[in-house]
Amino acid sequence: MPLTELIIDGFKSFAEKTRIKFDTGITGIVGPNGSGKSNITEAIRWVMGESSAKSLRGSNMKDVIFAGSEFRKPASHAEVSMIFDNYKRELNFDEDQVIISRRILRSGDNEYLINKRNVRQKDIRALFLDSGISQDSLAIISQGRVDQILNSHPEDRRGLFEEAAGILHFKKQKEEARVQ
Ligand code: ATP
Ligand code: MG
Repeated sequence: MPLTELIIDGFKSFAEKTRIKFDTGITGIVGPNGSGKSNITEAIRWVMGESSAKSLRGSNMKDVIFAGSEFRKPASHAEVSMIFDNYKRELNFDEDQVIISRRILRSGDNEYLINKRNVRQKDIRALFLDSGISQDSLAIISQGRVDQILNSHPEDRRGLFEEAAGILHFKKQKEEARVQ
């Protein structure tokens, strides 16, 4: 399902509402060190339900809120939205456009929304189930992850190939059937 737009507001280095539009084909994002490229992939993982602050290079989830700079005051909240074209119903949701959003306030209050309606984190995860993308799938390979894969134990590495080939899903089902 095509991702058409990403909106990042008050998340990490994105002090102001920033819209990134994606055309068909491959999009490359380039920029100097520290300009916020990794923050974009982190924004994507975050809105898809990432719950580990550490994996977003912070110690507390509130660390994702723009912390302020010499010329700008800190943001009161962070919000990220991903907009998908769901005309072909590739996401399990019966609308042509699906907007998933996540918002966090300085108080720590956190909410998820699908098409502006409040939902639970598990609803967001369920939406992407079987789509091949999720916050922890191989669809997102962060900096350092390639080295980690190359240096991993051969059996763990095989697991990654099985996931990429779509076999892991069936292996999990087989294991569940065996346990029952
Ligand atoms: P590289 O090419 O080195 O990988 P990059 O383009 O991936 O760089 P990022 O790691 O995305 O850069 O951005 C890092 C910048 O984001 C740093 O300047 C850091 O200060 C800033 N940053 C991270 N969290 C926050 C925050 N909560 N508030 C303000 N700025 C933040
Ligand atoms: Mg980076």
